Amino acid sequence: MSNQDIAKSPGKLFVVSAPSGAGKTSLCNRLIKKYPDLKYSISHTTRKPRKNEEDGKDYFFVDENQFNQMIENGDFIEWAVVHENYYGTSADFIKQQLKNGYDVILDIDPQGARILRKKLGYGVYIFIVASSLKELENRLKKRRSESEEKINKRLQNAIKEVRYYKNYDYLILNDNYNKAFYELECIFVAEHLKTLEIENIEDIMKLEV
Ligand code: 5GP
Repeated sequence: MSNQDIAKSPGKLFVVSAPSGAGKTSLCNRLIKKYPDLKYSISHTTRKPRKNEEDGKDYFFVDENQFNQMIENGDFIEWAVVHENYYGTSADFIKQQLKNGYDVILDIDPQGARILRKKLGYGVYIFIVASSLKELENRLKKRRSESEEKINKRLQNAIKEVRYYKNYDYLILNDNYNKAFYELECIFVAEHLKTLEIENIEDIMKLEV
């Protein structure tokens, strides 16, 4: 069975959290590129787009009124306030993709991950950390998308967030990008090899001699 075949077994939900700057977005993007049946859940946010971000690709950028309306309509499976902005996950998108047999990967904060786990009772929860706060700071500064004040807020938030690692099934230390990707891919592949997912051994193996 090739890696591509593994990704075709029934849809699974992967929830990834990490403090800002831990490298989660590029790790998730690389996994999606390698496994086309893995779909990225595009969140809605009231945060302003960064220079390199596209509406409908990185996020759906909305204003607070639109976001509140979506909360009222029950459009979100979870939502949270992170770094003073609203972020939410579309319930319809997730349900539709899983129903169609696709895997879904969500990049959400620990508040959202906790809500999802409680609500759904399934999913694979992965936490990614950088090797130090200094490393996080360097990466955030390199990104040049946040002011000094906002970077400091994100770092303060990171100190709080990393303490939630026990709420996750897996922990990846991103002190080396290729190693971290390898570990993320191993989790992804292993989750598809679980015997629980295989209804009938004859779907996998011919038993006639
Ligand atoms: P950023 O502004 O750097 O893109 O994201 C800030 C934080 O919001 C990150 O921790 C990211 O994982 C989180 N986030 C993004 N989308 C969602 C979402 O739909 N729900 C929740 N709870 N958090 C989200």
